[in-house]
Amino acid sequence: MDKTKEFYDVVIIGGGSAGLTAGIYCGRAKLNTLIIEKSLIGGLATYTNEVENYPGFPEKITGTELMNLFHKQAKKFGVKFKQTPVRAVNLTHERKTVETFRNIYEAKAVIIASGGKPRLTNAPNEEKFLYGKGISFCATCDAAANIDKTVMVVGNGDSAIEEGIFLTKFAKKVIVSVTRDVGNLKCHHAAKEEAFKNKKMEFIWNTRVHSFESKGEFLEKVILKNTKNDKLLSFKVDTCFLFIGYNPDTEIFKNIVNMTSDGYIPTNEKMETNIKGVYCVGDARNKSLRQISTAVNDGAIAGYYAEKYISENGNRTK
Ligand SMILES: Cc1cc2nc3c(=O)[nH]c(=O)nc-3n(C[C@H](O)[C@H](O)[C@H](O)COP(=O)(O)OP(=O)(O)OC[C@H]3O[C@@H](n4cnc5c(N)ncnc54)[C@H](O)[C@@H]3O)c2cc1C
Repeated sequence: MDKTKEFYDVVIIGGGSAGLTAGIYCGRAKLNTLIIEKSLIGGLATYTNEVENYPGFPEKITGTELMNLFHKQAKKFGVKFKQTPVRAVNLTHERKTVETFRNIYEAKAVIIASGGKPRLTNAPNEEKFLYGKGISFCATCDAAANIDKTVMVVGNGDSAIEEGIFLTKFAKKVIVSVTRDVGNLKCHHAAKEEAFKNKKMEFIWNTRVHSFESKGEFLEKVILKNTKNDKLLSFKVDTCFLFIGYNPDTEIFKNIVNMTSDGYIPTNEKMETNIKGVYCVGDARNKSLRQISTAVNDGAIAGYYAEKYISENGNRTK
């Protein structure tokens, strides 16, 4: 099958908060802009029931409502949308190509906004309690809902321990499930010292999640299994926070764009990757805080510099 060719100033891969913001900036700068989204427009934010920390919405807003507004604003500035996965890219030449099942899109600039997903334990019943039903991946987002409650943190790296310490400011107890032997955490030394001094934190060593349990809709218990003696341990918790890693959705850019060993794409302050005219924004980018507000920041900067790059380097299609 011969693929149809279309031409754009900018193609944005991923229609989450970062990609939509980049789209708003490119569209408003009168660039001929296409956003390609393989699944839900709005991305990961649409899984969040209540967004309480995005400025401008003191009465709370659901992730879907917020993303619908982003989408509407991008469409207002003439951004076009295609709902299909990007399968391959060729980014090294001045004219870059982005390939889907039926089409080849040629662009002067490409913005990678493909995000990622938090890693799961794959224990039984996990899917049932994801996103607002008791399993969380974001202490910044869900700590305030756990004042004086008992929570569990699964993980023992920097983010697990730092977020666990943060959660002690809200919860009455933070149980930490650690796969390693007593006293052995993978996080940096200062966090380890602080965590061991914190009276609200209780470490359950040599354990993995065996299952998530509840008689109702919301998570009630986490069952841990001791990996040394196979004993099952049951914990009543209000929320279980999983900090066992994050998988950036950057597989199709491997060996094309520079990335870290865990798949994040480094950029400079202009969101430029190592390839001229190729930008990376949002959760796929190598950075420390992954939030809607930081995705918006990245998208705005990339949109601004993509416009400058295109104006300086060639004719715009509009
Ligand atoms: C449970 C949870 C709760 C959260 N709560 C909050 C909160 O309250 N406040 C807050 O600020 N942040 C919150 N966050 C973080 C926030 O959701 C993310 O930081 C933000 O959505 C990242 O936006 P993004 O555009 O970079 O990525 P995403 O939203 O992940 O968007 C990337 C998009 O790219 C698409 N894509 C990937 N590969 C391809 C491809 N090959 N072709 C086409 N499309 C592709 C994906 O389908 C996806 O839609 C939360 C995160 C989680 C997991």
